Amino acid sequence: MNYDYILVRYGEITLKAKNRKMFLNALERSIERAMEGYDVTIDVQRDRAYVQINDEPHEKIMEALENINGILSFSPVVKIKTDEESMLNTAVALGREFRHGETFKIEVKRVDKTYHLNTYDIQRLLGGYILENIEGISVDVKHPDHQLNVEVRPEAIYMYYEVRQGVGGLPTGTGGKSLLMLSGGIDSPVAGLEVMKKGVEIEAIHFHSPPYTSPEATNKVKKLVEIMSRRTGTDIKLHIVPFTKLQTTIYEWIPDNFSMTTTRRIMLTIAEELAHTINAQAVINGENLGQVASQTLQSMHAINAVTSFPVLRPLLTLDKNEIVEKARAYGTYETSILPYEDCCTIFKPKAPKTRPSLEKVEKFESKVDFRPLIAEALENVECFSAGEAEEKEAFAGLL
Ligand code: ATP
Ligand code: MG
Repeated sequence: MNYDYILVRYGEITLKAKNRKMFLNALERSIERAMEGYDVTIDVQRDRAYVQINDEPHEKIMEALENINGILSFSPVVKIKTDEESMLNTAVALGREFRHGETFKIEVKRVDKTYHLNTYDIQRLLGGYILENIEGISVDVKHPDHQLNVEVRPEAIYMYYEVRQGVGGLPTGTGGKSLLMLSGGIDSPVAGLEVMKKGVEIEAIHFHSPPYTSPEATNKVKKLVEIMSRRTGTDIKLHIVPFTKLQTTIYEWIPDNFSMTTTRRIMLTIAEELAHTINAQAVINGENLGQVASQTLQSMHAINAVTSFPVLRPLLTLDKNEIVEKARAYGTYETSILPYEDCCTIFKPKAPKTRPSLEKVEKFESKVDFRPLIAEALENVECFSAGEAEEKEAFAGLL
């Protein structure tokens, strides 16, 4: 089928009354970015948008729209003249895409009230013609497999049946900025993408401890940032913090069963510092209630005590299988399960406290001055961006 437009429906934006314009502008920018390289015309209106696809392949265009935050659903649409013959031919062409045994109904929206056929006439005309010309499909007005939509407007008639789900949420760049604590695991990339869905821009922070952690482990995190960037049409910056000295100091001074708590407390302290520097308003992590020792409520209480900064935990109440499902859908799962260890796996205590008392952990930490090591780590942060890496690669290819 040759489609002319993709009709785009908005999600949460439709709830915005006051600053809808700002949300629509952001959505337009996202669509423009996703459509780079395609010859399309984008028309963002108050309640819906049209992407005129000219001769571009509609499947590719739809794949790109599938990942844009703020889009609830979209449909490939045929635009035809306002005569009966065009309508009949298009109805049959669309009906041929239904499978044997499937049912349909026709839904007419008559925006042009002066059109010479009324809703019922159009339904009967098209329904009858489809049944006459295509075998093996039937009408079901209550629970059809497909709804063939006919929108009669003064300038043209629009017809479509397919509706594809988008990401929903709000357009990127409308919800402030957060710093994602990104390990190489399954959870944190999903946590970041969940928050991004609400329009929040992110940068990421990763702690590595060479030589205890391998370059492969750090590369895996870079790869995750690349996947997340591509998926959201953004260029996520990754800040890589050298954590070896802190990690070995913790290992040396803090009793084994409290070392996890202290590690997390120091990571959060550094994350907050960096968040201030990059003007982020919150930190995100992939913590999940009850999943492991460091993620009990008592643990979170002891860890969180180092900051009054907002810490977002979008996966808090999900079950592991739900997180895995999301990771697969987001395309991060396969990379996350690569076997390279992050720093905490290597320094993992044998029996971490599941209910660390804040008083005790503070007492142990008071014996060491971590501040100069924290300052040193912050001074030596390396920055990586997927966009820049891509540019470098392209440049290297030219040499
Ligand atoms: P994940 O799958 O995201 O690694 P997890 O279930 O393994 O999570 P933990 O290892 O306890 O959980 O880590 C909890 C959270 O702390 C992670 O989701 C992540 O946000 C953060 N975190 C852990 N290790 C690191 C690291 N090396 N660098 C940055 N953030 C980290
Ligand atoms: Mg982990």
